[in-house]
Amino acid sequence: MKPKSPELKGPQNRRADYNLRYAQDLLVQARVLAHCFDESMALMRHSLLLGEEFGFREHVMHCLQEIAVAYYAQCEYDLSLQYWSYCLDVSLNLSNDEAYIQAQIGIGQIYFAHDDFAAALEHHLQAAESLPRINNHVLSSSLLINLGADYVQLLQYAEAISALQEGLLFAQKANHSQYIPEALGLIGQAQWGLGDRLSAEQTLQSALTLNRQINRLWGMASNLLALGRLHLVEKNTLLATTYLTEGLSKAMERNALHMVFQFEQLLAELAELRGNYPLALSHFKRFHFGKEAIKSQLSPHKLQAMKMQLEMESARLENADLRRQRASQHREIQRVERLASYDGLTGILNRRGLEEQGCELFQRQRINRQSLSVLMIDVDHFKRVNDGCGHPIGDKVLRQIAALLKSGCRQDDLVGRYGGEEFVVLLPNHEGVAAIEVGERLRGLVEAWIWSRIHPELKITISVGIASTLDDASLEALLNRSDQCLYQAKQQGRNRVVV
Ligand code: GH3
Ligand code: MG
Ligand code: MG
Repeated sequence: MKPKSPELKGPQNRRADYNLRYAQDLLVQARVLAHCFDESMALMRHSLLLGEEFGFREHVMHCLQEIAVAYYAQCEYDLSLQYWSYCLDVSLNLSNDEAYIQAQIGIGQIYFAHDDFAAALEHHLQAAESLPRINNHVLSSSLLINLGADYVQLLQYAEAISALQEGLLFAQKANHSQYIPEALGLIGQAQWGLGDRLSAEQTLQSALTLNRQINRLWGMASNLLALGRLHLVEKNTLLATTYLTEGLSKAMERNALHMVFQFEQLLAELAELRGNYPLALSHFKRFHFGKEAIKSQLSPHKLQAMKMQLEMESARLENADLRRQRASQHREIQRVERLASYDGLTGILNRRGLEEQGCELFQRQRINRQSLSVLMIDVDHFKRVNDGCGHPIGDKVLRQIAALLKSGCRQDDLVGRYGGEEFVVLLPNHEGVAAIEVGERLRGLVEAWIWSRIHPELKITISVGIASTLDDASLEALLNRSDQCLYQAKQQGRNRVVV
């Protein structure tokens, strides 16, 4: 092992350590808030920003992965794709094979969701090249199962089975309760594709049993779909009906739309087989409208995904060294730009960044005849925090306030540190009651945060002054008016919003 170099113990390193813990803490807060997508996303982005600012590349990668996964879960495929591509770049620069594989799996899954199985396969195959270099059973299993799923869709059943069996082995070594039935279900489909009907049914049944044990709706629905199809083809209407009706209800319960319409299609065929034409028609109608709905939902994303694919392909063809060099130049430029416009302590815009971006926003809103509100925010009795708990605690408070303000705003709002313990928020297309609501929300967020996490006796509140565009000549005039309101909020006793 390398001996620790002496400078690692210096104040510089303690500060880096502290910054990293803060950025990681934000990510933990984001996970806790996962049920409120917007707030969680704001915290993850803020954490990412700090990671980029201070050069914590491993942390940046974790943020990127979590953001990409969160967007994927929201069906925001183009955004998810962007974050995975960024992740791909960072993983290459860090020579981190696991992160590289993870990113390629994620990108492939997006193409898979758009029925572009060939592109999905290509990404998963690229990831597979790094497989021998990792020692992570769960990740290996995940990649091989994804590969198998691509092959099944492309009707390359022999390749599917060999990838899936290998994936199953890794899943068994890791004792992974989800991946084992997942691999089995796909193996069953591939066996049926190869004409091995007997093994297919057995494998699908064992997958179904395992999925029932862990109550995994999606897995059950997909096994029941395959079993139903198998019996439908053999005109075994009784068993087909049992599997398909149960499967349909699982798919509906799981809200898996694309699967629901596949059930409807098979149920239509089944009803026709049994001579029940009115029932067949009603299933067919639901199949048809379901498919239309999904098509209209996916097509804009699909276009976007295709465009991204082209960009990525051309990037891939470029010389890898050149690319790396360019990326580091680009990062350096970004870093310098960031240093000039962003606040080193809190990671949000500094006064200069706020004024530059704020003036542009002010002009844009004026040209479009849209409103703009300014929230001038000042921490109450902040001097007492410094005097009572010390300057480092004061700094922690300022960072937490910045994070809270970010988490309470929309992506298009500008949030900055105007000076010492003063913050400014610019809200485009918000005025009157809507702006007051935001001010109240931010005030409430700060008041409600459990400050004793930072220091036992700590209680923090903020005062907010709000002004919205009337016929102000400049952003400066608007800022002045909000400052006057802030002064009144202080006069009236603090911890309040004044318009
Ligand atoms: P009020 O409710 O009237 O706003 O009272 P206050 O104590 O917050 O106001 P005052 O303007 O008197 O004090 C602000 C303090 O903020 C003084 C300064 O030491 C502190 N401060 C400014 N910048 C920083 C910083 O970067 N870190 C820390 N820890 N303190 C800061
Ligand atoms: Mg002040
Ligand atoms: Mg103050």
